[in-house]
Amino acid sequence: MIDRISRVLPDLRDDELPVFIRFIMGRIFPDWSPEKLGIGPNLLYEGVAYVAGTRKEDVVERINRTGDVGRAVEELLGKKEQTSFFAEDLALLDVYRDLTSIAKTGGTRSQREKLRVVRRLFSNARPLEGRYLARIMLEDLRIGVGEGNVREAIARAFSVDPYLVEHAFQAKNDLGEVALLAKAGEERLREVRIAPFHPVKMMLAQQGSIASAIAENGEMAAEYKYDGSRFQFHKEGGTCRMYSRRLEEVTDALPDIVEMLQRATDHDVILDGEVIAIRGDRPLPFQNVLRRFRRKHDVASLREEIRMVPNVFDILYLDGGTLIGLPLSERRARLQEVVTDHIAPQVVSDDPGEIGKMYEDALAAGHEGLMLKVPGSPYTPGVRGKNWIKVKPEVDTLDLAVIGAEWGEGKRAHVFGSFLLACQDEGVLIPLSKVATGFSDEQLQEMHALLADHVVSQSGKEVQFEPFLVVEAGYSEIQKSPNYAGGFALRFPRFVRIRDDKDIAEIETLESIRERYFRQPGSGS
Ligand code: AMP
Repeated sequence: MIDRISRVLPDLRDDELPVFIRFIMGRIFPDWSPEKLGIGPNLLYEGVAYVAGTRKEDVVERINRTGDVGRAVEELLGKKEQTSFFAEDLALLDVYRDLTSIAKTGGTRSQREKLRVVRRLFSNARPLEGRYLARIMLEDLRIGVGEGNVREAIARAFSVDPYLVEHAFQAKNDLGEVALLAKAGEERLREVRIAPFHPVKMMLAQQGSIASAIAENGEMAAEYKYDGSRFQFHKEGGTCRMYSRRLEEVTDALPDIVEMLQRATDHDVILDGEVIAIRGDRPLPFQNVLRRFRRKHDVASLREEIRMVPNVFDILYLDGGTLIGLPLSERRARLQEVVTDHIAPQVVSDDPGEIGKMYEDALAAGHEGLMLKVPGSPYTPGVRGKNWIKVKPEVDTLDLAVIGAEWGEGKRAHVFGSFLLACQDEGVLIPLSKVATGFSDEQLQEMHALLADHVVSQSGKEVQFEPFLVVEAGYSEIQKSPNYAGGFALRFPRFVRIRDDKDIAEIETLESIRERYFRQPGSGS
């Protein structure tokens, strides 16, 4: 796969290269871009139905049969081919231009206008093109090309050091742009710097314990683990922006946090932190913060109810310079020099007793636990490595993708009542469990509101979703199961919360489920 991709890249023009790179990863816009296509499956089916001269129900029926939107579209366009002929060839950039125009279409007439463009695209598509076009529109290409493959292919195509490709990607967060730089030569890749208003992937943490972290690393920098929402704050001159953990811009949803951080520094900075909600002096559960992120309107009234507080724990950029290569201890020193307020307290110690005490304090104050960080470690964007260790009370939960549901019954007949959850194996979703307990009525309403527009197929009472939503689920035990493709199932699964700060790529892997299974007492290992 890497080889094939790398052979195509050198022949692409500069304007085609980034588009091609994103398309083969099933994306249209750079990850950091706020732009969204804004086409739900329904609009797509309607467009395809029109072009194929059939009804939307037939499209849905065919998707149910093939289990794949792409193949269904291909079949439908194949039938059409005998009766009509193409108007024009679809060129890469034309498709991109059309998709961009769809993304930019807003206002009251937007659905009709979008539909018009979707129809035009499919009426010009050959059946095989239709297969991939449909999947690109739903941002689920299913060709198994991941970021790692594409990074390798770029390095190979332009004979540059893969390490430099990776390095540039960490700062740019868009392999399309990185490919262009690689094409221009290693020097250009080397020059890449983090810059304001270009969000950087967030560094992530592994689970661990105080004793083993200190045994392995000696001194650790300990901070409270706040149960809120991750943010990245960018400031240059008088302009400030905030990004969520998924690198979506959330400036307008958090005006008070932006103001507080702006007041705390005169410098140009990129700061990493966690915003928490507080009522009185107790932190509120995570869901309250998320609701705020989501609710872009009505911000003023919410502002009074709940106080939002930023806790800054890292600095990635300062006055034109990248800091991510520096050890944490030096970044921390810079942070304390240039930011006057809202810095998360930190204790550096190799004494398990002292850190244990801090852990108790954190829990007593209503926080989630501790983060232990290796003081000599650089900031590695997007990496869930051993340099950041999270320590929290042992509650076994899994972050899983919602891939299907069944309609509820009785008074819950207008919402989904149970959900099918999946883990992943190298990007392929593997069903793991159904979950029907743990939901309040409001949460079921919320799940329905989030998912209703993402139904890709339906049979009887069951629906399948375009996978995008992550939920956290608890369980009592992992069991071997012949009923699920991954070979495992959850015993007593229960819904804990929606994790809409998490991306589908971050869900639990089959490998880690297997490991958890073998760690269980009595699993025979
Ligand atoms: P988890 O989401 O359970 O994988 O835990 C990692 C998350 O903890 C990060 O993405 C942050 O949102 C959050 N967090 C809370 N406090 C801190 C902290 N002091 N340092 C780093 N991350 C933190």
